[in-house]
Amino acid sequence: MVNMNTSFNFQELYNYAKSISCDAVANEAMSLNTSFKTGGPCGVRLSPDNSEQLILILNKARELGIPYVILGNGTNVLVPDEGINKAVIIVGDKMSSAELEDDNTISFSAGTNLAVLCRFALENSLSGLEFAFGIPGTCGGAVYMNAGAYGGEMKDVLTEVTHLTPDMKIETISAKAADLSYRHSVYKSNGCIILGGKVKLAKDTQDAIKARMNDFLGRRKDKQPLEYPSAGSTFKRPEGYFAGALIEQCNLKGKSVGGAQVSEKHAGFVINKGGATSSDILSLIELISKTVKEETGVTLEPEVIVLR
Ligand SMILES: Cc1cc2nc3c(=O)[nH]c(=O)nc-3n(C[C@H](O)[C@H](O)[C@H](O)COP(=O)(O)OP(=O)(O)OC[C@H]3O[C@@H](n4cnc5c(N)ncnc54)[C@H](O)[C@@H]3O)c2cc1C
Repeated sequence: MVNMNTSFNFQELYNYAKSISCDAVANEAMSLNTSFKTGGPCGVRLSPDNSEQLILILNKARELGIPYVILGNGTNVLVPDEGINKAVIIVGDKMSSAELEDDNTISFSAGTNLAVLCRFALENSLSGLEFAFGIPGTCGGAVYMNAGAYGGEMKDVLTEVTHLTPDMKIETISAKAADLSYRHSVYKSNGCIILGGKVKLAKDTQDAIKARMNDFLGRRKDKQPLEYPSAGSTFKRPEGYFAGALIEQCNLKGKSVGGAQVSEKHAGFVINKGGATSSDILSLIELISKTVKEETGVTLEPEVIVLR
């Protein structure tokens, strides 16, 4: 049953979602929806099937005065242990598609997994997305974050983005207007929901594309603690430094708070070693930032987004 012990009428939003056949779960633990596998319950978790259902849900949430947050795969977020007194709307697998627009252009829906988009590019002998193979997010999350790795980033391939504005208009803007830079886009502040976009790629042989994808994936497996829950790199790369190297230099590799640990494999990753709470992770992030600042003078800024 829906927990009515809140100031918002999540029950009514839940009932409405069910009435339009939208997947909804009341009070769902956010540990089920985040790659850290921590975080308390949300008011209601909703996973619309398409943009039309998304708009209906948003209109209803607005009518009921219920705040909401959008999530893709939850691979770059941390939700507090006490949970989040909001509706969580997932633009994920159910809103997934990739289509060839012309010889070099692929259009995608925001919920598409990056791995699915990368494989689609490979099938069509299109190169440029290899860097993204192994980043576990959705295309929407990747645009929002300007996800990048191994010298590539979304900014290099994105040509346009289609989004839903806060006043419920569907608009398409150029990638330039989306203002992508290091782990930044206009979506961090404009309140729009990314619905999809287009990437422009270059022709290459499937063998060459596949070799690069496998190379990057292999490097991830060698260097990153993929066997433990995490949100990838905990901190942004400070100008002129590498966060992992600074953390290691401060002898914090292996440092634990409760079940959270600075990975012994890659100091740039805070991992859930087993049974970590979000507050363990947050305390460890604070400890790392404070120690690195005191010992090296460098300010580390978290890349992980804390949803409240
Ligand atoms: C093992 C591991 C490795 C990783 N490696 C990398 C890497 O190499 N490079 C890299 O850049 N990142 C990496 N990440 C981090 C993460 O995968 C990326 O930031 C990814 O782009 C996040 O996508 P997501 O769908 O999970 O977004 P979420 O974590 O679900 O959301 C992130 C932010 O985007 C917003 N958002 C998501 N979808 C939408 C939408 N449709 N409209 C509007 N806002 C939206 C959310 O509100 C939130 O603020 C890694 C993470 C893990 C766990």
